[in-house]
Amino acid sequence: MTEIREDEYLDPADGLLHCRKCGGPRQAVIPDPFKGGSFKPRCVCSCQQEAKRRRKEAEERRQRMERIKRRKAQGLQERYLYGYTFANDNGGNPAMAKVHAYVDHWPQAFKRNIGLLLFGDVGTGKSFAAGCIANALLDRDIPVLMTNFPTILARLCGTFGEDRTGFLDSLGDYDLLIIDDLGAERNTEYALEQMFSIIDSRYRCNKPLIVTTNLKLDELKHPPDLAHARIYDRILERCAPILFAGKNFREDNAASTKAAARQIITSTAASHRQTATEKGEL
Ligand SMILES: [Zn+2]
Repeated sequence: MTEIREDEYLDPADGLLHCRKCGGPRQAVIPDPFKGGSFKPRCVCSCQQEAKRRRKEAEERRQRMERIKRRKAQGLQERYLYGYTFANDNGGNPAMAKVHAYVDHWPQAFKRNIGLLLFGDVGTGKSFAAGCIANALLDRDIPVLMTNFPTILARLCGTFGEDRTGFLDSLGDYDLLIIDDLGAERNTEYALEQMFSIIDSRYRCNKPLIVTTNLKLDELKHPPDLAHARIYDRILERCAPILFAGKNFREDNAASTKAAARQIITSTAASHRQTATEKGEL
């Protein structure tokens, strides 16, 4: 005799256990071909199935969150990049609308291998914009790496053979590669050669690349020599240029940092004075 659980009842109509919640049978009827009669093995009712499905979904959500966290740790190598999000955008930069649109149309951009070239003067918010893209896509569980050439070159320095190929191949694993601040690195022959091999391998694996740079579009279009030309040509071919102009957002930030610091210092000084007075030191 099968044990009746708390959430079940025996229905005299069919002689089977049923779920108190959904009323569905918790037992099936299978005829016994040898002895005649039948078996009544347990089965799951619809709310048990639903509960199982929900547990599975919750587990998948948990695994997805874990994966996103891991990808972020891998893709955002600088701590400050975590704060470069659309939520933290003050809305003062008109170029951000285009950056937003890029993220909204990411599936098409990825499919057609369309990247971006965020160019403009120092402090106009290009890295912030690139960071916003990185965070938004990483939050969607898309593998992104945001890095720069000095970091890549330091990593490549003294790496040869399989290690080197392995590292370069690993860059191709990311659906989006963001190279921040192109043109800030030392342009030795070695550096230029490495830069070309990275841009070129990106080009060959047909995955988008985003580049930020202080260089002028004209400098990119008319480079000083062939070594630069072949790098810039590849970038211009696959990356849609977006101009970041006008306002220097870093000056804005510097001003608000100063204001905040002033506030902290004066309030700290005030409370110190108070403590000192209490101790009778003044
Ligand atoms: Zn049920």
